[in-house]
Parts: sequence; structure tokens; C-alpha cells
Amino acid sequence: MEDASNDQSFSGTVSLPTSRRPTFSSIPRSRTLSVDITVAAVSNLAAYEEDMEARLELTRVTSPRQDLLVHMTENYHDLLKYIGEDPTRPGLLNTPQRAAKAMMFFTKGYEEKIEDVLNNAIFDESHDQMVIIKDIEMFSMCEHHLVPFIGKVSVGYLPNQRVLGLSKVARIVEIYSRRLQVQERLTKQIAMAITEAVQPTGVGVIVEAAHMCMVMRGVQKLNAKTITSTMLGSFREDARIREEFLTHVKN
Ligand SMILES: [Zn+2]
Repeated sequence: MEDASNDQSFSGTVSLPTSRRPTFSSIPRSRTLSVDITVAAVSNLAAYEEDMEARLELTRVTSPRQDLLVHMTENYHDLLKYIGEDPTRPGLLNTPQRAAKAMMFFTKGYEEKIEDVLNNAIFDESHDQMVIIKDIEMFSMCEHHLVPFIGKVSVGYLPNQRVLGLSKVARIVEIYSRRLQVQERLTKQIAMAITEAVQPTGVGVIVEAAHMCMVMRGVQKLNAKTITSTMLGSFREDARIREEFLTHVKN
């Protein structure tokens, strides 16, 4: 029962109740807008290139998790046996270690702190126009089945004297998505992190993802997408602001 109620694979194409879905069509349209819009479409590559140096720095740090690799390797060795494989056959000899390293990579968000990433990337700025970073690629792991869910994240906020380095939004997405997650929590955590970082007037986050636990098992719907959204501050209270964000994210 518990699994069925939590599991996105049981609930069709969209896992959230209707009232919480981003309602693209139901939001009233306005002719005059109170805010100008700056759209920054940041591809993952471009965003991360800027951060490459910092990222390399992070990978050089030996983390306590690395010490656990040997234990994880043993566990994957056993797992191969349990699924009916022969871990001693040539093709699988290095698989347990590779799998352990891959799992560490998929969950490397546990090694990083938002505060460290945002260091020196918050700027005093009187810019009061909406900032939108859309289609940030996202790779996460469903905490119910330990299989991936993959999609894209769009983030918008209205600054209040402070702005965030553009690539840092992608880093926030990376840190929270590279952990065991449920999509609803991931969406909220991204919105909260941006709120805490720059105290904006409002924040909107939309995550659209395909869950492999839904695609490969359960209902086996290949093209089913789950959409989650978090709207805070003026994005929640002001329909015109929310509409403008959703229009840009949609197009
Ligand atoms: Zn799942």
C-alpha cells in the first residue's frame, strides 16, 4: 500500500493532483506586463564550462565516501550473484567496482554543499527584471527504486537587490538532483535554495522528467512525463508574473 501511494508509476502520466499542476491554460492572460523579461537559456555544457575549474577542484578532494568504495564493490559482487549471474566470468570481473563508482557519481550531490557553491556568486544588483534559466538538464535517482529519472528544470525569479551567478542555478539543480530523490522534493529544494540565497521577490521552479521506474516497470509508458512545480512569493500570488514565467518556460 505504501509503495502504491508514493509511487509515481501507479498514477498515470502526471503524478501530482490537478490542483498542483502548472496550469498553463487556466491562468488569466494580461496584455500589459509589470516586469520585463530576461531569458537566459543556459545549456548544461555552457553553464558547467564556466564552473569547470571549481568542479575539478571538487573531484580532487578525497571524500570519506571514497573509502566506502571497497565495501560497495563487495555488495555489487553479491548482487550479481543474487540476480543469477556469475561474477567471475570475464565480462563481469570489473563490473562491481565500476558499478560502485557509477553509483557514487550518481549520488555525488551528498558531497557538495549549497553554501560552498554559492560562495562569491551572489551580487548586489538593482536589476529588478525576471531572470529565467530554462531547460537545465537534470539526472536524478528515484529513491523508491534506485533507478534514474531524467528531465529538465526551469527556474525563474524576480530579484530583490541581489542576483545569483547564472551558472549557479544549474549547480543548485546538480547538487540536489545527484542524490536519491522524489521529484516533488527536488522541485521544492531548488526553489528554497534560491530563496535562501538571494531573498528574491518570488521564485518559480518547474521540473519535467521521465521516470525509468515508470518506463521500464510498472505501467511501462514510454512517453509519460511527470511535471512538478513550486511557486513562491510573487510567483504564487501574482497571476501575471506567474503567467509570464510559464509562457517563457513553455515556449
Ligand atoms: Zn521509482
